[in-house]
Order: sequence, then C-alpha cells, then structure tokens
Amino acid sequence: MVLRKPEELEEIKRRFLEHYKGSQTELNYKNDYELLIAIILSAQCTDKRVNIITPALFKKYPDIKSLACANLDDVKELIKSCSFFNNKAKNIIEMAKIVRDKFNCKIPHDHKELIKLPGVGNKTANVFLIELNGENRMAVDTHVFRVVHRLGITDAKTVEQTEKDLIEAFKTDLNELHQGFVLFGRYICTAKNPKCDKCFVPDFCVTKESFKAR
Ligand code: SF4
Repeated sequence: MVLRKPEELEEIKRRFLEHYKGSQTELNYKNDYELLIAIILSAQCTDKRVNIITPALFKKYPDIKSLACANLDDVKELIKSCSFFNNKAKNIIEMAKIVRDKFNCKIPHDHKELIKLPGVGNKTANVFLIELNGENRMAVDTHVFRVVHRLGITDAKTVEQTEKDLIEAFKTDLNELHQGFVLFGRYICTAKNPKCDKCFVPDFCVTKESFKAR
C-alpha cells in the first residue's frame, strides 16, 4: 500500500530528480548485448565486480553468435569471480542460443519476450529497458526496496508489490527515479551505517532513529 500523501510523493520525486537528473547505470556496456549480459551478471554481485569481469568476456565473445557457441567451462572460467557464476554461465549461453535461433541474433526489446529468456526475470528486463530505452518502468532491487521503505513510501512486503506501489505512487519519470533510488541506496542510504548527514530527504525518513538496530 502507498503510505505517503500525493504532495509528499511529489516532493520526494522532485528532490530525487533534482539530485540524480540524467543518471545512468554504472555498468559499462557498448550495446544491448553487453548491457543484457552485464545486468544478468550483476544479480547478487556488485557493478564494480561485473565491470572487472566483462572486458575479457566481451573480447572473447563479442556477440550473441559467438556466445551461443561458447564452451561452458570457458565461460565459467571467465566469470568465476562473480557470485553464482555456474548458473550465470549456463544462463547466458542458453540465452544467446535462444536469441540466435528465435530472434535472428537480435535481442528482443520487449518485456514479454525478454522475461522468457534464461537468466532474465522481471527486474532484469525492467532494468534493461530503463537503461536502453529510458522506458517509464520501475525495477526494485535491494537498494530500491530498502530506500523506499525507509522513506515510508510503501509497506509492501514483496518486491512485486513494492514495484506496483511505486508505479502507483509516482506514475511518471520512473526510470530516473529508479536510477536515483539505486544510487542513493548505494552511496548514501546504505544498508549499514547510512550517511544520514548527506541525506537530502531526512524529513521523510521513518527509520533514521532505528536503523542501527536493523
Ligand atoms: S536519514 Fe539516513 S536512513 Fe533515513 S533515508 Fe536518509 S540516509 Fe537513509
């Protein structure tokens, strides 16, 4: 359920858009292929780690065609410093095979088709479309979930409900708000020891006094 009044939501939105105007993902990529792979690898892993891994991976497997024919052990070796690398290696190769065979090597830019690909869930598809096309979508990762709860925007217990509540609450500019919530959660409203002295929305915080016990 959305807990904030419309005028409060408007103010939160205004401040986030002001602070994070034009922000983009911190993942390095040159095209839709590299972006999708980087987002898949970033699940439960930091963007920094992914940016260390991907140059060698993309050098050896620069496109869908080459990745679809890749040797599984070789891909595992290239991404082994990433969490869940076994599954991720299998998924990206399978994803590449399907895109090669079903989509003529062109990654679909459609949410319904994207979520059918191995390793691509709702959140990954949303992040991909937000970043690539600036689509008006919300993707709820661990940072977004924490931040919007600390700001008392929603009491949703699940990621899915949180996404619905945020869409209902803000309606537009969701892509920029997503980027803003991620960056705010990553660098200011961190899980442990948030930098509350740098916070630009402390008047909306409902956990400022209690976060130490969380
Ligand atoms: S005051 Fe601190 S805990 Fe609250 S939203 Fe701001 S950074 Fe996060």
